[in-house]
Amino acid sequence: MDFQLSEQQQDFRRALREFVEKEIIPVASEWERSGRDPIEIVEHLKAMGLFGMTTPEEFGGLSLDMVSFALVYEEIARGWMGIAGILGSHNLSCWMIAHHGTEEQKTRLLPSLASGKFRTGIGLTEPNAGTDLQGIGTTARLDGDHYLVNGTKTWITNARSADVLPVLVKTDTEATPPHRGMSVLLIDSKSPGFSVGRDLGKLGYKGTESCEVVLENVSVPVSDLLGGIEGRGMQQVLSGLEIGRINIAARSVGIAQAAFDASLAYAKQRTAFGKPIAEFQAIQLKLADIATELQAARLMTYWAASLADAGDRVDMQAGMAKYFASEVAIKASLEAMRIHGGYGYSTEYVIERLYRDAPLMSIGEGTNDIMRTVIAKALIAGSAFVR
Ligand SMILES: Cc1cc2nc3c(=O)[nH]c(=O)nc-3n(C[C@H](O)[C@H](O)[C@H](O)COP(=O)(O)OP(=O)(O)OC[C@H]3O[C@@H](n4cnc5c(N)ncnc54)[C@H](O)[C@@H]3O)c2cc1C
Repeated sequence: MDFQLSEQQQDFRRALREFVEKEIIPVASEWERSGRDPIEIVEHLKAMGLFGMTTPEEFGGLSLDMVSFALVYEEIARGWMGIAGILGSHNLSCWMIAHHGTEEQKTRLLPSLASGKFRTGIGLTEPNAGTDLQGIGTTARLDGDHYLVNGTKTWITNARSADVLPVLVKTDTEATPPHRGMSVLLIDSKSPGFSVGRDLGKLGYKGTESCEVVLENVSVPVSDLLGGIEGRGMQQVLSGLEIGRINIAARSVGIAQAAFDASLAYAKQRTAFGKPIAEFQAIQLKLADIATELQAARLMTYWAASLADAGDRVDMQAGMAKYFASEVAIKASLEAMRIHGGYGYSTEYVIERLYRDAPLMSIGEGTNDIMRTVIAKALIAGSAFVR
């Protein structure tokens, strides 16, 4: 196993880091607090080609390797995790279209999505079904050459910005098991009957909207059935979530890195009892724990990403990375708050934002309890994880 990033990956990380230092970190806390739309940052993301990370070059994307993909989320989340959300479900859906779409769908949609001219997200969760996606109630009834779609999706990141939204539906409500009757429709958000509700209030993850999407008799041409064959939706979504979990693991590493950086700097400059608090063993132990667990999370994330680059299915490895790294991020943000004392609780410092952003990493792209069942099932089925 090679633990070194390639020269190209190191250059890429350097460019990302410069961008984050210059364009994101100086504005993150203020824009987060005021709820300002980070439009200038979105324009930079477009210019850097980051809306096309998972789109093949032939359709105008970057065809990025998965380790570099992880670096993007890690570096951006180090500055402001919410900004990583703008790219997350967008690139997941581009990946699904690139891997499962028809040639016509790829040619029609991917170039505009890769440039950021069109935006997207992913519509899976419903008010009554999140983990249990086979329990969704959104239906698509075939009516001539169109589907009529009815249902409600919730917590949809980037919903208001999306030009086209891949939505998980039931094309056959009688199918057993239910996933055999599930499909993904690439729904044009301008379609009559497609409406985006209010932004849902949330603890953190500001900078990108999370909304309810209501679908009332939305007419969707059959040409917008992802891949052109019904009944493959669950499979398509699960394969997309695999890379989504690498993205969440990497964001978690970014959050933990930010917690460590702030803590180390603070511990060196804050004095108590006539010396920097970094000289107290209690503080040193916390710094050592954060750094050690952070590095383990990072290596596990790159490991899962590099296996994906080798063309393997990595549900278990991405699940391990996502589960471990997100717990590390949660712990790191809390330990960082302890190191900062009262200032850790203050909106003047970055720690309280990290503390609010970190828990989502244990929920998004499958909760950590589900990750553990994914890992266990793969192990029981005979997957070998030591490579
Ligand atoms: C800020 C934010 C942004 C989001 N963005 C999107 C998005 O863009 N698109 C989208 O489709 N969704 C999105 N989601 C939804 C997210 O994916 C779901 O919240 C998540 O999958 C969990 O589903 P749930 O909330 O319905 O919880 P539930 O499924 O109701 O789970 C509740 C609890 O029960 C546990 N549980 C459930 N089933 C089992 C089981 N079989 N075994 C053990 N434990 C179980 C869970 O682990 C959890 O602890 C977002 C959520 C948030 C908070």
